[in-house]
Amino acid sequence: MTDTLALTIVAPCYNEEAGLAAFVARMTAAADAVAGSDYELILVDDGSRDRTWSVIRGLASDHPRIVGVRLSRNHGHQLAVTAGLSLVRGRRIMVIDADLQDPPELVGEMIARLDEGYDVVFGRRRQRAGESIFKRATASAFYRTLAALTETEIPLDTGDFRLMSRRIVDRLNAMPERDRFIRGMVAWLGGRQTELLYDRDPRLAGQTNYTLRRMVRLAIDGLTGFSTAPLRLAMVLAGFGLVVAVGLMIYVLWGFLTHSATPGWTSLALIVVFFSTAQLACLAIFGEYLGRTYMQSKGRPLYMIDEIAVRSPPPEAKG
Ligand code: UDP
Ligand code: MG
Repeated sequence: MTDTLALTIVAPCYNEEAGLAAFVARMTAAADAVAGSDYELILVDDGSRDRTWSVIRGLASDHPRIVGVRLSRNHGHQLAVTAGLSLVRGRRIMVIDADLQDPPELVGEMIARLDEGYDVVFGRRRQRAGESIFKRATASAFYRTLAALTETEIPLDTGDFRLMSRRIVDRLNAMPERDRFIRGMVAWLGGRQTELLYDRDPRLAGQTNYTLRRMVRLAIDGLTGFSTAPLRLAMVLAGFGLVVAVGLMIYVLWGFLTHSATPGWTSLALIVVFFSTAQLACLAIFGEYLGRTYMQSKGRPLYMIDEIAVRSPPPEAKG
């Protein structure tokens, strides 16, 4: 892939036939204003069931800067974005929803920030108009739980609306993990990242495709992808169990010595206490190994080198 364009915009589209033309009009107007003709707009049809693909094909034949991509079936938002990102030709890459909830006009401001030397400028939601209290409350609780459980600092209240440098996108594309939680992966990559506050608008047309089930799925992907804390639960329980077991054993032995216990109860109670604690401890050990194997199986790079400083041209070798 060449990287000759100033800007690539990636927009995933699922059942967006009603609002797509309006999105493309606003997006291209905004991009024309900042990049002239030096950009491309990649519209990824994520296996829509409506006429989205024929709308995209029509737009692509009218507009030289539009690239239409159609996935074989519905793969979900994160994979639609991933597919788009694998085709980019730009030096800067913007990811934006096609339903006009993210304002396309921010592209200029985002480019200005990125060109100050950032790798990522992510949109952070100041307000989410037109979304239910339930959605806002669950989203907010999710981002905070995630922050508490993961070591990766995933910024609060951000979606995938963002502008990224090409090197971040190249590295993102090189991460082979299957369960993709893109905003987490970008945070994990590090580099210089900054936020741009914006107000999230209501959907222009159609309805949200993120059902509760999909939101829960995404939340689980985020949590398990960046944290092995749930696996560590056995460790916490085993520690707790050990303390309780010691207390219980004293109590049981006391009953035995003072002959206040029913015959047989002592041995039974000791067996239960001992083996349940031993089982929890074994589960905790399994969890540790499993967690490491799991993280290893993601095949992530170990680090990302930001810059290398060297006197240039390099000092001449003597002798
Ligand atoms: N989307 C997609 N595949 C899906 C679901 C959604 O490509 O399976 C697209 C959708 O067309 C939109 C973006 O992802 O451009 C965000 O989806 P949506 O608006 O439904 O989510 P919300 O904004 O309500 O979180
Ligand atoms: Mg939306």
